[in-house]
Amino acid sequence: MNEAMFFKTEENTKKVTCFLCPKDCVIADGKTGVCGVRQNINGTFISLVYEKPVAIHIDPIEKKPLYHFHPGSKILSIGTYGCNLSCRFCQNYDISQIKDSPVDFDNIKRVTSAEIVNMCIERGLKFIAFTYNEPTIFYEYMYETAILCKEHDIKTVVVSNGQINEEPLKKLIPYIDAFNIDLKAFNENFYKKICNGDFETTKNTLRIIAENKKHLEVTFLLIEGFNDDLHEFIKMCKFLKRLDNKIVLHISRAFPRYKLNFNPTPKSLMNLFFDTAGEYLENVYMGNV
Ligand code: SF4
Repeated sequence: MNEAMFFKTEENTKKVTCFLCPKDCVIADGKTGVCGVRQNINGTFISLVYEKPVAIHIDPIEKKPLYHFHPGSKILSIGTYGCNLSCRFCQNYDISQIKDSPVDFDNIKRVTSAEIVNMCIERGLKFIAFTYNEPTIFYEYMYETAILCKEHDIKTVVVSNGQINEEPLKKLIPYIDAFNIDLKAFNENFYKKICNGDFETTKNTLRIIAENKKHLEVTFLLIEGFNDDLHEFIKMCKFLKRLDNKIVLHISRAFPRYKLNFNPTPKSLMNLFFDTAGEYLENVYMGNV
């Protein structure tokens, strides 16, 4: 069963509208949405990445990054192909940006949710992360696995860009224990022009997670010349503080990848942002330094 959730089909045209993320793609028969992994087949909408992971690893939980959620633990981490953003600085573009190199999904080995959970049990692991690419676009696989985890006392983690509509997010939240959400800038223009995304959606996702009292950490990748306006960053810190004054913020150093040319974030800029964040938030860390 790989029929997708959150879509409707237009009777006459067989066009499908997907409501999973703010792209709200309208997709003709035979085509996929922006994420490249959800396809309209004669009016039925399917997930091409259901039970098709391309990365399964055991990582330290700090690598997600989560620093205040069961530190010192190991976590089984899974991801698939595809993403609903196309950040020009993407650090994982080889699996996220599949329009650049089309994928033969039939050749990817199927791994069921039960097999994933069994991998955890056999290795004595208590945590699973949906990560590497954007887990929203493999929602059905994540959702089923997360429900199964709850039956086996395994805690679940989502590492996401926050680009998910409210209804699917609220349906998923009861089965997720912790989130790390990427906040790419505090600026609608950056989201639109550099990421092809929607700033307000990620803010709303953060609000909903905080309201539901889930463990929440936030990652901000600092890129010199692109999202390094200190006044904007202060607004971000104030916004996060209003959500939860114990929130954990990771400021991550950027290195040039994919299509965006820039210098590795200077250490002096990292220090300035780290010190500034510390004036507003209690739990601030630097990453990639
Ligand atoms: S999940 Fe994919 S198909 Fe659905 S709206 Fe988002 S980008 Fe489009």
